[in-house]
Amino acid sequence: MKLKNKKVLVYGMGDSGRAVIKLLHKLNAYVSFYDDDVKFYDQIGFERRPEDVDWDLVVISPGIKCLGNPLLKVFDERKIPVISELDLAYLQSKGKIVAITGTNGKTTVSMLTHRILKMAGFETFLCGNIGLPFSSICQQTNKNSITVCEVSNFQLERSVFFRANVSCILNVRPDHLDRHESFAEYVRVKAKIAQNLRRKDVLILNLNDEQARKLVLHKNFLFFSKNRLKKGVYVWKNQIFVNKKSVLNLSDVNLAGQKNLENVLASVAMASRFGVEKGVYEKAIKSFSPPAHRMEVVGKMNGVTFVDDSKATNVASTVACVEAFGDKPIWLLLGGLGKEIAYDEIFDLKPNIKRVVCFGQEGNNMANCAKKHGCDCAIFDKFDDAVNFCIENAQEGDFVLLSPACASFDEFSSYAERGERFKSLILRRADEN
Ligand code: ADP
Repeated sequence: MKLKNKKVLVYGMGDSGRAVIKLLHKLNAYVSFYDDDVKFYDQIGFERRPEDVDWDLVVISPGIKCLGNPLLKVFDERKIPVISELDLAYLQSKGKIVAITGTNGKTTVSMLTHRILKMAGFETFLCGNIGLPFSSICQQTNKNSITVCEVSNFQLERSVFFRANVSCILNVRPDHLDRHESFAEYVRVKAKIAQNLRRKDVLILNLNDEQARKLVLHKNFLFFSKNRLKKGVYVWKNQIFVNKKSVLNLSDVNLAGQKNLENVLASVAMASRFGVEKGVYEKAIKSFSPPAHRMEVVGKMNGVTFVDDSKATNVASTVACVEAFGDKPIWLLLGGLGKEIAYDEIFDLKPNIKRVVCFGQEGNNMANCAKKHGCDCAIFDKFDDAVNFCIENAQEGDFVLLSPACASFDEFSSYAERGERFKSLILRRADEN
């Protein structure tokens, strides 16, 4: 796509939008920008009436809600092409692309896949939803490089061109229903990862996930599974196999829980498409620890273990965390900003949940659901009070999990800030003791 001297509007001024503006400048386009948030207008000024301009192209950032968006409706009616940030980066990139999507585990799998490929000696890039926009590195890629790109639904929503040589759908569970309006729409957008695949590209799917296993949208697909398969990547006799070849012992996987095992299988499946040698898997996976705020043990006090899983912002990820702690007695910290998801699945795991402690805007709803399932429950308005209650009352041998199943924006600017606050409350108390 030649953009020199073209009039391009960048819609959405988050990290991705800003990376797109820089990229478009390098491509000598005439760049304008717009954001629904007026604070950006006050700070830097932008197109006041973008609907009145005949743009050659609009590049939309992942932060912009597309369904029912009046501005996008105008562009669509006027047949102005709208593409995503991911599209623009893809069109400017070279080399191979590995794309990972799914409701949960994207960051973990992107990091692990990147690590395996890097240790195998490839020139690699890691980008996308993980926090570094693809647009900011796409011009550094070359014909021999492999770009591992974490892809969210928000990025796929208006994607037209994006295509990866190896794509993976890890799982599809209810999330972001406030933005996508229905689960069917959420699944439709996720499936867009496969919309442009070519014959030699491969689509990797999780056979253990009820939704992902159905998304066989490409002839060249590969399943991974925790059970033995005839073909694909699977577990058998405590080893991970790629087709019929054993590549790793399960004892070399140091990540907690069955869901993390699925993450490892996905990473092995993707790396195996690049002919990675057996020994590399062991080297890369054995020493891999999950990123911060994902089932991270952050402290032990008076025999109580504290786990920061603040990144669990939907029910499926919280369930994964509770399950990972097996039959340990759990104090579960739940709450924050709700996403219109049903919570019952969490409380069906009652046997190892000793106490539910709810907080924040969604706290009451969650507590009502917990009580309906017969769980012992405490409610607090503020996050700090809920955490302090756990610190004061949990007993030796208990596990306190911050795995809230909600977004953080009612009290915090991000899940990371919430996780850091959790850590600091524990450390402060440990210092006092
Ligand atoms: P994402 O990037 O998709 O949000 P992360 O790797 O950041 O995924 O993990 C988000 C949350 O989901 C964490 O709480 C983590 O413990 C949990 N998690 C990780 N992998 C999975 C999985 N495969 N299925 C369910 N939950 C998972």
